[in-house]
Amino acid sequence: MADLNPSFSQTHPADGEPTLVRAVLGPAGTVRQGVKRLLWMLPAYAFAMALMACAVLLQRVQVWQGWVLAGYMLCGLSCFYAVLRTGLVAHRPEPTLAFPQVLFSLTTVCLSYAMIESSRGMALEWMCLILVFDMRRLTGRQAQLATFGGLGLLVAMLLFTWWLNPAATNLQVALASIATASLTMPTVLIVTKVGRRLHQRRLDQRAALATALEQLHALSIRDGLTQLFNRRHMLNLLDDEVRRQQRSRRAFCVAILDIDFFKRVNDQHGHAVGDAVLRDFATLARGAFSGSDAVARWGGEEFLVLMPEADQWHAMQRLERLRQAVRQHDWSVHAPNLAITFSAGVREHTPDDALTQSLEHADRALYKAKAQGRDRAIAST
Ligand code: GH3
Ligand code: MG
Ligand code: MG
Repeated sequence: MADLNPSFSQTHPADGEPTLVRAVLGPAGTVRQGVKRLLWMLPAYAFAMALMACAVLLQRVQVWQGWVLAGYMLCGLSCFYAVLRTGLVAHRPEPTLAFPQVLFSLTTVCLSYAMIESSRGMALEWMCLILVFDMRRLTGRQAQLATFGGLGLLVAMLLFTWWLNPAATNLQVALASIATASLTMPTVLIVTKVGRRLHQRRLDQRAALATALEQLHALSIRDGLTQLFNRRHMLNLLDDEVRRQQRSRRAFCVAILDIDFFKRVNDQHGHAVGDAVLRDFATLARGAFSGSDAVARWGGEEFLVLMPEADQWHAMQRLERLRQAVRQHDWSVHAPNLAITFSAGVREHTPDDALTQSLEHADRALYKAKAQGRDRAIAST
């Protein structure tokens, strides 16, 4: 079917957004946020202008008064739109011009209060509406200034109109309305302040919960003693890697490492020294493998290394690097004459293998390394 209104269906090549929408709202980010916020206020202004048009038609308001007020509102809104849409204030601390807009709205109410007698009864309601609508966007100080500034303006307008034409002003009614405003507007301020505090507390709680969840997740995937990945997380990583391999068809390597004669360390020097050896070994292992490799404590004094971007030759190189690091490490800080070695079995996992089979092959290679005298790595063929 032919498009009846092509200007609305034209889309921006970058994001599929209609060109007209983009032209009116501006680029995404602070510019658009400010323009959108201004557009949200338009219905309230349109409603006020419609009320004024009715009042002019009913001859409750003179035509020139209607034009002055409508002109004031349209000029103000156009200026705000121009400043926001051109991005003139996009990098300022207050890019949506919330505070100037509130002041503008309050002066509009005060102007109509001064010019149109029949609007005076509504001034308080409008002021409260403006404050409630915008309070959340203002800082605490700005909210106070807007509240008490608005109140001051109202009093000034009352005194001004009374001074201009005392006979036309019912001072008692005006004072009663000012007294009500003095009570109502600070109440609005306090209530929104409490609301703002609750909102902030909710945001803080949400942030604390997110941090706690993050910490919990970090704890749940790590082994408490060595801070290496735990067995459960390594199984997940292995599953992920196998899935990735189904797409890439690239081989990866697994290695099972086991500290030699570790029971003796415990028996001769105590469990605490055994723990310290496990921690040091973990640190050395973290340093010996590349950033894309994952090292896990597989159980007891056994470790599993997943090397996604390594073939068997590279895997053996990295194990040799660790062997040298373990050999050169000063273990005697934990117990005199303590020396540690480890044995390892390596298996290259191809897309046609089952993961359990590859782990079994690596395990068998490890036992071969033990049988051949320990302190070595053997690749399963
Ligand atoms: P092999 O060279 O054949 O591997 O001999 P091994 O002594 O290392 O092997 P074995 O399986 O006989 O002993 C492993 C020991 O590791 C037994 C166990 O008490 C100890 N162990 C397991 N987990 C921990 C731990 O968290 N801390 C300490 N200190 N010891 C542990
Ligand atoms: Mg063992
Ligand atoms: Mg052992």
